[in-house]
Amino acid sequence: MALVVQKYGGTSVGSVERITAVAQKIKSFKDKGNQLVVSVSAMSGETNRMSALAREIQDTPSLREMDVLLTTGEQVTISLLAMALQQIGCDAISYTGAQVRITTDSQHGKARIQSIDDHRIKQSLSEGKVVVVAGFQGVDAAGHITTLGRGGSDTTAVALAAALGADECQIYTDVDGVYTTDPRIEPNARKMKSVSYEEMLEMASLGSKVLQIRSVEFASKYQVPLRVLSSMIDNPEGTLITSEENIVERALISGIAHNKDEAKLSLIGVPDEPGIAYKILKPISQANIEVDMIVQSVSAREGLTNFAFTVHRDDFDKAQGILQTVRDELGAMAVQSDNQVVKVSLVGIGMRSHAGIAAQMFEVLHQENINIQMISTSEIKISVVIDEKYLELAVRSLHSEFELDKE
Ligand code: ADP
Ligand code: ASP
Ligand code: MG
Repeated sequence: MALVVQKYGGTSVGSVERITAVAQKIKSFKDKGNQLVVSVSAMSGETNRMSALAREIQDTPSLREMDVLLTTGEQVTISLLAMALQQIGCDAISYTGAQVRITTDSQHGKARIQSIDDHRIKQSLSEGKVVVVAGFQGVDAAGHITTLGRGGSDTTAVALAAALGADECQIYTDVDGVYTTDPRIEPNARKMKSVSYEEMLEMASLGSKVLQIRSVEFASKYQVPLRVLSSMIDNPEGTLITSEENIVERALISGIAHNKDEAKLSLIGVPDEPGIAYKILKPISQANIEVDMIVQSVSAREGLTNFAFTVHRDDFDKAQGILQTVRDELGAMAVQSDNQVVKVSLVGIGMRSHAGIAAQMFEVLHQENINIQMISTSEIKISVVIDEKYLELAVRSLHSEFELDKE
């Protein structure tokens, strides 16, 4: 008998019909003698719908109240799924994050799981029940409801699997695995049989939203075998996310990630003197804005420099306002801002031992006449910031250049 944690995402539980189909799927696993803990997201579109409602009332609603609001989405689906299971004769019980007790820190909107009390879950499993747990949510030490950030149900599932010592954590979604790139951008993208934790972590942090970053961090830290599968079609294999030594297919480049949530800000003509980066970025970080890429370059005019960085698009207006003030203080010439940029990244462990990948990437972009605005590299990735209108072209031409469509 195996203990399996399954997670069903928003589209997979997007309607009563879908919930009923998921219940059937769960029952068939249970009938094979497995123990099941199932974590679910809110029905597709619900989290966005509720966020929009809140913003009709306040521009920047309190993060605490946002968490109280958004967690209701998952409470709807856990109860409906438990009912659907009971309806087909499969004993089930639902728990919210607070009921299980999934304890997190107090950072509303992006809380981190600190501990999971497995007592109730184990009790219900021993009574032969399927346990349905609300994804994306927890409770802090003081009892305030928290959420784990967008896509957080993936992390709930992996954390549950780690806490329970489950045999596998299965993430059911609307694609049948992890592809070499987002199949919605490149139809020739190829499904991978397996991918290492390290590469998946890089892909997720560079924008591949198929798994939340923290879920991969958890899986890697606690060595949880993690599988991404389709809830719609029958493919028991999907993609396994596992340790590097278990990977059979070794590719130079494993995938291409993209991130559309980018915005770029530049301060032009700043006096080139010690402390500039600090003076520009300190007020940005004080406003709780995370900075991604940073480039400082020499300006054509002597003694002056240009300073550019990227932030999340949601922080664009706020960052722009701060930068106007900084410009006045530092006597810089101008602020330039652009929220129509994207980041495209090549990811692959094979890059470690291979020079020339960056040049090959830049050549492809040059051939397509795509201007690179910023570059950043690490041991296993190369990222470029480009104009959003070239996103598809860049992803597809790189995918074909590096032959990612071929085994
Ligand atoms: P869920 O609601 O089930 O959590 P998500 O929308 O969060 O689903 O994640 C699945 C989506 O991730 C897919 O529909 C796909 O468009 C996108 N995606 C991005 N990059 C990849 C990739 N490399 N492989 C597979 N899917 C990807
Ligand atoms: N419902 C949440 C979201 O839309 C959590 C999740 O789906 O994982 O981000
Ligand atoms: Mg998701």
